[in-house]
Amino acid sequence: MDTILVVNAGSSSLKFEVFAVAGSLTRQIKGKMDGIGTAPHLTIKGGDGARLANEDYPRETVPNLPAAMRLVGEWLRERHEGRLIAVGHRIVHGGPDHMRPARINEKLLDGLEQYTPLAPLHQPSNLAPIRVLLERQPQLVQVACFDTAFHRGHDPMADHYAIPARYFDEGVRRYGFHGLSYEYVAGRLAEVAPGVGGGRVIVAHLGSGASMCALYQGRSVESTLGFTALDGLPMGTRCGQIDPGVLLYLLQQHGMTPAQLQDLLYKESGLKGLSGISNDVRDLLASDAPGAKLALDHFVHRIGLNAGLLAATLSGLDAFVFTAGVGENSPVMRERIVEKLGWLGASLDPKRNNAGELLVSRDNSKIAVYVVPTDEELMIARHTLALIAA
Ligand code: ADP
Repeated sequence: MDTILVVNAGSSSLKFEVFAVAGSLTRQIKGKMDGIGTAPHLTIKGGDGARLANEDYPRETVPNLPAAMRLVGEWLRERHEGRLIAVGHRIVHGGPDHMRPARINEKLLDGLEQYTPLAPLHQPSNLAPIRVLLERQPQLVQVACFDTAFHRGHDPMADHYAIPARYFDEGVRRYGFHGLSYEYVAGRLAEVAPGVGGGRVIVAHLGSGASMCALYQGRSVESTLGFTALDGLPMGTRCGQIDPGVLLYLLQQHGMTPAQLQDLLYKESGLKGLSGISNDVRDLLASDAPGAKLALDHFVHRIGLNAGLLAATLSGLDAFVFTAGVGENSPVMRERIVEKLGWLGASLDPKRNNAGELLVSRDNSKIAVYVVPTDEELMIARHTLALIAA
């Protein structure tokens, strides 16, 4: 049996999935090593959900990502039958030029390392497992799938910031992220709602990272995320859109260092910062503290505002799609958000919404509202397979 390994590496966790290639792609393994460098813990499940591993490791056994990658590789070699034909990697940043997935070699990897200053928290983690595999198994086909690629068809006008143009040339531009999720959802929508999928659609990817994307005829034309994954909507711990004057104030009046500012904006802000309670929407929904209410009200308010911006970009709206953790699992949040789209003519069917059906709007709603579960790993596996087939 031929298999494809999908790797999604973060700063302290390594997620991986194995897909069998037999006509179509079938998920066989879903695993995660977290607590890398602190309290390493490996969980692995089979495609049927059965638990295959649930183990703690001493910190010194898994001090970093390369060690985690080696350990996962050993586990797969010993315990998993199948012939690995390729590895697909999630790469947060493909820079301005990568419009589609690319086969990895030393030259490509060096090129991707150049984008580390554009995504200092993610890019090095994404690239570390590639290096390990290139060294240990140079003959293995590796494919880079970029979170930015799906947005590369934007009108350059939309991707500019209004600062001197030389910075755009240097790479300071709006890239947009969550592209693999949007690409998957756009593809699903074309299957399940072909009439609507070709129209003007907003997809809201609401997970611990959150953004929205305007799709026209299945292609991204705008995204709420820009140069980094900090822009647009407030997220679990990230601030979302902020007046740059606030940053100047914090630097000048609070004497913050760039590292402190980075921590504040990426790790201490968003729902966590506003509520003072949690970055998890479930905790906030369960709490009656005023901070929890403020955080959720603000989140919904900003989603409504940004939906207006994206609908204006599209000159109207045919459908609104929810995806990712909050979007897929929370009828209450969907209800609150669709209320903000009432002026566009969106109206939710409570029964469909509570049941989490594919179509959750009423039959007479002017805007169709869908819930489409995302699957970034499957998207990566598909890209990887397509690239080796070509
Ligand atoms: P990631 O961005 O890490 O991939 P997910 O897309 O899985 O995350 O989303 C995780 C978030 O989804 C959690 O932090 C939580 O806030 C939210 N979430 C998950 N399930 C529910 C639920 N039933 N109700 C509300 N929010 C939920």
